[in-house]
Amino acid sequence: MGKNETITVTSPLLPSLDEFIPYLQQIWDSKWITNNGQFHKQLEAALAEYLGVEFVSLFTNGTLPLITALQALGIKGEVITTPYSFVATTHALWWNGIKPVFVDIDPNTCNLNPDKIEAAITEKTTAIMPVHCYGVPCDTERIQTIADKHGLKIIYDAAHAFGVRVNGESILNAGDMATLSFHATKVFNTVEGGALVCHDAETKKQIDFLKNFGFAGETSVVAPGINSKMDEIRAAYGLLNLQQVDKAIEARKKVAEYYRAALRPVKGVRVFDDMPGVRHNYSYFPILINAEEYGMTRDELYFKMREQNVLGRRYFYPLISTFDTYKNLESSTPANLPVATRIADEVICLPMYYGLTEEDLERVVGCIVK
Ligand SMILES: *Cc1c(COP(=O)(O)O)cnc(C)c1O
Repeated sequence: MGKNETITVTSPLLPSLDEFIPYLQQIWDSKWITNNGQFHKQLEAALAEYLGVEFVSLFTNGTLPLITALQALGIKGEVITTPYSFVATTHALWWNGIKPVFVDIDPNTCNLNPDKIEAAITEKTTAIMPVHCYGVPCDTERIQTIADKHGLKIIYDAAHAFGVRVNGESILNAGDMATLSFHATKVFNTVEGGALVCHDAETKKQIDFLKNFGFAGETSVVAPGINSKMDEIRAAYGLLNLQQVDKAIEARKKVAEYYRAALRPVKGVRVFDDMPGVRHNYSYFPILINAEEYGMTRDELYFKMREQNVLGRRYFYPLISTFDTYKNLESSTPANLPVATRIADEVICLPMYYGLTEEDLERVVGCIVK
């Protein structure tokens, strides 16, 4: 990228157009363009294999699998979740008539703090919906122990956690279900898209009914399902993109290492390290700005970067709990969410994608190092 060209926070990984055209030709020839076609089936199988999970259902985006997971598990009442996420996590509860109960996050992972979960459980609580924020694994063992003790289900919003493994095991196998987003901004994209991972064939069958209006056969509708089927064009695109995702994750890792080395010595800037035993995907690169030590607030730095055409993003600011729909819930008070509130005020996610050049990285770091 040239001297003053804009560096965006992300840029989509695209398959080669030359390689895509023969797939399109096949789709045109067959005239089978959606409804569980051959590329849809192939991508489900390829993802199950790549991710190390048994059952994958493709969706048309990453929000509908969240909504559908809640439907499939019959979740009602109250669900414990994190305010420090993309707003879709909480919206999925709202669309199911469920009351979100926000619990604070752990300052070292930015994920739901297991120490705070039990105090938020009431007789109406039916599930926990944590997010593997930035692809950093939640403490899945402790969350499972709490869920088992209180008879709760767990749905992980794993939109950031494509390909993340802990001691060789896919993070997507934790909990009752996990959801993925394949939006253009994510590590692996199908333009728009997503998936729901479950752990048994019967549940997958149910999910597949739900994403197709509830149809279980030509004349049989078993539930009030929705339409969230992925089409053949995006499934084929996904098959091609899957072939290069490891290369992209490797490149992202190098970017993370560059940023860490350059920014760790800067007073008032906090970077996050890899966790032992974790295969990270480097989906985001958050830094925290301690205004007092750094001598500038997060927003001052953010706008200074923008002036230099370096577009960081304040993920996740504002907290979901501050939006109009949710701000009047008892659990939305900043006093209940001190860590999330502080981190939302300190965070900037730096540009992170496959294709950033050494020169780009120097420009990003140059905005921050004084
Ligand atoms: C991107 C994202 C979603 C929603 O995915 P879409 O594919 O954009 O619908 C849900 N949760 C989190 C945490 C996300 O980052």
